[in-house]
Amino acid sequence: MKIVMLGAPGAGKGTQAKMIAAKYGIPHVSTGDIFRANIKNGTELGKEAKSYMDKGALVPDELTVRILLDRVAQDDCAKGYVLDGFPRTIPQAEVLDAELTKLNDKIDFAINVDVPDENIVRRMSGRRSCPSCGATYHIVHIPPKQEGVCDKCGAALVQRDDDKEETVKNRLKVYHEQTQPLIDFYEKKGVLQNVDGTVDSEEVFAAIVKILG
Ligand code: ADP
Ligand code: AMP
Repeated sequence: MKIVMLGAPGAGKGTQAKMIAAKYGIPHVSTGDIFRANIKNGTELGKEAKSYMDKGALVPDELTVRILLDRVAQDDCAKGYVLDGFPRTIPQAEVLDAELTKLNDKIDFAINVDVPDENIVRRMSGRRSCPSCGATYHIVHIPPKQEGVCDKCGAALVQRDDDKEETVKNRLKVYHEQTQPLIDFYEKKGVLQNVDGTVDSEEVFAAIVKILG
């Protein structure tokens, strides 16, 4: 099963993708997580990606597509995957589509997690993530058991550099200009599924499970 998560930054794509990955036994592939791991490890790729991420801009397609295709070519992706944060532009979606077509394959579901802009800034200013295991929380909606500490591995939670209000506003603008057109792209392919992302994360997940079966 190959799934693409669509939605604005902060809509809950990562939260849902992790739950899907656990339930269906497929890897969660997040280009944002791959970039952040590279930044943490001080790689050349990380340095280049950071210059775009800090501004709330997109990392160039060529670089992003290359790392994504490398990742999905790994053995653990053979039976499927859930893509979170990729594709983010029409050219990215077209390359993915062409690569899958070569393999006689396709995306089975594009799940659009729908959350209006008004909710997004609040979501992202409250987001905290674990730099060690990647778990994500929200200080009000999905709080860890102990404030500032990851439930899963005990590391200290951090706020992402690009979750500052000004950067979030730019990310939303970029989303509307470059990523939202993907909703139409996948609708035309007959694989688009919309879910209401404003409800509790367990309710969002129940709606997704109904779709995936
Ligand atoms: P994305 O991957 O789309 O950028 P995240 O999954 O990281 O978004 O979610 C953004 C923030 O909103 C996080 O702090 C997360 O804990 C919180 N969140 C996710 N889903 C919900 C929900 N259904 N209701 C309220 N908060 C949520
Ligand atoms: P995310 O973790 O998905 O919110 O992504 C964080 C940041 O990483 C984005 O704001 C972009 O700068 C960059 N990024 C992640 N995925 C992509 C992508 N598919 N195309 C371009 N840039 C990306």
